[in-house]
Amino acid sequence: MQTITNKIALEEHFCAPGLEPSIKDVAFFDPEVLHKIELALPEVSEQRLKAMDSAGISIQVLSQTAPGVQSIKAAADAIELARWANDCLQKHIKFSPERFRGFACLALQDVDTACDELKRCVEELGFVGALINGSTNGAYLDEPQFSRFWQTLEQLDVPLYLHPGLPADHPQVFRGHPELEGAVWSWTCDTSSHLLRLVFAGLFDRYPQARVILGHMGETLPYMLWRLDSRAAVTTVGRALSQPPSETIKQKVVITTSGVCADAALRCALEAMGDEAVMFSVDYPYEDIQVSANWIENANINEVQRIKVCSANAARVLKLS
Ligand code: ZN
Repeated sequence: MQTITNKIALEEHFCAPGLEPSIKDVAFFDPEVLHKIELALPEVSEQRLKAMDSAGISIQVLSQTAPGVQSIKAAADAIELARWANDCLQKHIKFSPERFRGFACLALQDVDTACDELKRCVEELGFVGALINGSTNGAYLDEPQFSRFWQTLEQLDVPLYLHPGLPADHPQVFRGHPELEGAVWSWTCDTSSHLLRLVFAGLFDRYPQARVILGHMGETLPYMLWRLDSRAAVTTVGRALSQPPSETIKQKVVITTSGVCADAALRCALEAMGDEAVMFSVDYPYEDIQVSANWIENANINEVQRIKVCSANAARVLKLS
């Protein structure tokens, strides 16, 4: 077994003071598990570095944990807290600039201000992209008010990590079934649907340089590409697309393995999306860093694929030297 000690992990969370998830947002967690997560989230120093060392992770790309600022109602509060989270993140990166990078936290309640903040984060603070936790108070990123946001991502040539957040509504199918909420299932539905809204809206035709990163092995989409094409081809909207949905997803989306340590899912993702499109991640501290690292070191893929997944693809996508 070869040990790869320079893994890059890019769905790795921290929490700025004041942006802790509320009790109701994390009610589905077992209290014992939640306690450990709450201790680990704000810590971005020796303990985290020790865990990264033992897992062979050279770089964590940090992001404010969900729901972050996405579900804050008052735009002024969201703007202030996003800036605060980014300043906190910059301090963490400065603590160990070789080991940490950052994704910007953005209050899309005010798109123009969020674009200015993204520019500040990339051009002044050296962040490598943005991470958005789902819809912003129910507004999804295919909606026309976000056009400047996509333009800004293109201009800065940085990717958007589309991470799950709190779904804005509560579909009937989940009512009375809290066991299906959150990371177990409902976030997957919301996030994969969010991405598909971008594809079916033709967003990537309008912003051809835009790139999206999906976590959790692509939120089930790699498994569904053939069916998406087949069924879209018999709808009027699907027929009007410039190309089948699978082509757009393969060209514009890359995915991470965060929270899915399963060989079958990884092999499906590599085959469906291509060897250049899959990047290792943990989803720290929600997932076990050591379990994730041991899994990818031993996953049933070839060694060229392993190097691409562990670090080479992330280095290319995030332009890390
Ligand atoms: Zn996550």
